[in-house]
Amino acid sequence: MSRYLRASLQALDPYVPGEQPQDQQYIKLNTNESPYPPSPRVLEAVSTPEVEKLRLYSDPEARILVSAIAKRYGVGVDQVFVGNGSDEVLAFAFQAYGGGKVRFPALSYGFYPVFARLYGVSAEEIPLKEDFSIDPADYLDCGGTVVLANPNAPTGLALSRAELEEIIASNPDQVVLVDEAYVDFGGESCVPLLEKYGNLLVVQTFSKSRALAGARLGFALGSPELIADLNRIKFSFNPYNLNRLTILAGTAAMEDEDYFQSCVQRIQATRSRVTEALRKLGFTVLDSQTNFVFTKPPAMSGRAYYQALRQRGILVRHWDRPLIAGWVRVTIGSETEMGRFIAVTEELQS
Ligand SMILES: *Cc1c(COP(=O)(O)O)cnc(C)c1O
Repeated sequence: MSRYLRASLQALDPYVPGEQPQDQQYIKLNTNESPYPPSPRVLEAVSTPEVEKLRLYSDPEARILVSAIAKRYGVGVDQVFVGNGSDEVLAFAFQAYGGGKVRFPALSYGFYPVFARLYGVSAEEIPLKEDFSIDPADYLDCGGTVVLANPNAPTGLALSRAELEEIIASNPDQVVLVDEAYVDFGGESCVPLLEKYGNLLVVQTFSKSRALAGARLGFALGSPELIADLNRIKFSFNPYNLNRLTILAGTAAMEDEDYFQSCVQRIQATRSRVTEALRKLGFTVLDSQTNFVFTKPPAMSGRAYYQALRQRGILVRHWDRPLIAGWVRVTIGSETEMGRFIAVTEELQS
């Protein structure tokens, strides 16, 4: 870094994304992408004439996309905010609601502490229980913004809607942000609570269940007032935060409910088989409500397992952190990919 960089930014520890090798050599089970392509309607939507229109700016209000999302979730168009990945939506929310402090679990999405740092918000990181679950009691009446990934990452465990409702109701003067990046794979969404609670902001992404990680598209649902806050920041930063092709791709994906459901069901079915196979081999596997499993091999460190898989062409995610050093997070890929993953794991055990 240069000597010109602001002191506050020199102290920043940026987020470290999972590896993205560009050579297609690996079975990629490390960043929770979909093994399936986006809806065929996405391919039709991103046509040559639309590519030619890239000379024109995109719609700063992304109206067709906002309408498709509002329709799918049964909310008003003034209750939808769209961003360049849910990472951007989360960044805007941390900027908007930092105020005093923000509370989130000590083991959760790695971007939360980074955003807190970047926007100068003090972070209260609350340890999980010993079984890796979140204790809802830790988030009652917080006196600061609450951020919860539900289901949580990298554990895959979920709180019920009733548990979240208690948290939301007990913090009426604070925003409660529920990051539902994985909710489509088995969690209970808080979207039905929106009509009751003006302090609830639900954030979702097209990156996982809608197979558009590379398009960069996320959204927030909330009261018209909260959505206006996020738009205030966006229009002070980058009014054209979504490009034309992503707006079209996202709209097409959101409208293809059948394809979405069938992808989610396939991943859930594969997840059950993988969980069962790993448990048979003596692995500990948490009950995942997501498109990944968090698992601990019986007789190897997490790092050794990660490295052995890597040498055999399979990428998973491992963190050198005290409580989870024995664990790895494995994205649910296609049936074929997971067959290979299990076969290699069996080999390593014998
Ligand atoms: C993947 C993920 C995101 C970010 O998704 P993008 O929309 O691709 O930026 C946000 N939160 C959690 C918990 C995630 O796992």
